[in-house]
Amino acid sequence: MNNILIGSHCGMSGKEMFLGSAKEAASYGANALMVYTGAPQNTKRKDILELRIEEGHEYMKEHGIEKLVIHAPYIINLGNTVKPEIYKLARDFLAVEIERTIAMGSDILVLHPGSAVGAPREDAIGQIIEGLNEILTCDMKCSIALETMAGKGSEIGCTFEEIAAIIEGVRYSDRLSVCFDTCHVFDAGYDIAGDLEGVFDEFDRIVGKERISVFHINDSKNGLGSHKDRHANIGDGNIGFDAICSVVYHPDFVNVPKILETPYIASPEDPDVKLPPYKEEIERIRQAAP
Ligand code: FE
Ligand code: FE
Ligand code: ZN
Repeated sequence: MNNILIGSHCGMSGKEMFLGSAKEAASYGANALMVYTGAPQNTKRKDILELRIEEGHEYMKEHGIEKLVIHAPYIINLGNTVKPEIYKLARDFLAVEIERTIAMGSDILVLHPGSAVGAPREDAIGQIIEGLNEILTCDMKCSIALETMAGKGSEIGCTFEEIAAIIEGVRYSDRLSVCFDTCHVFDAGYDIAGDLEGVFDEFDRIVGKERISVFHINDSKNGLGSHKDRHANIGDGNIGFDAICSVVYHPDFVNVPKILETPYIASPEDPDVKLPPYKEEIERIRQAAP
């Protein structure tokens, strides 16, 4: 089973933009990648024509990279019911981000559902649904992958029930899918290290396993149910290498892309220099193929 789709988050900057992202992915031996269409913390975006999209796709093809996933910036918070201007900004920006995802030649846009910021969670969920209903169209050529969250602060989407509630409320819910983040799910209290099949069964019962369109593969620095959202390198955290590989090679999700978002590690020569761990992690995971 070596035909898994695996890659990592890659940068997109400088002169090369998306061409550089594709080169970065190839340098890790990846056959999938995920990028943000601009800085994850803000809404400043370069014109789509400056991203060198076609060259990037050509490079992907030449190097056997099959899948591109886009991640929306974290600051999009459809769940903010306290400040209407934040909600409006989130909704309008998300609509543009969908256009950019399609223009980049991707059909998956990962979205953090939102945060309740102190208001009742039901209100936040209601507003997330409202926002998605305003934006999603029936013929949209891209799926919004709601990410399972760790439950840090007042994050929505840290239970399978909340994810299901959003999907149920949205009119064109076939345009919604799920990004299953292993660190987040574990931090939220689902024991994928001790009982992976039990967690997948529960997910299947509540959301439906066919909804999963992408995995974020991360170990967790903290324990089960810690709600901290601190990613660890594969095998260095509380989920562990074997459980991570059981997710990656799970027979129900063979064709679903797996994206690493593990932290950069200090260079052995100079601890101030941080290096991406992805080439080694992808190699180790590939070697562990059943
Ligand atoms: Fe995320
Ligand atoms: Fe993630
Ligand atoms: Zn995270």
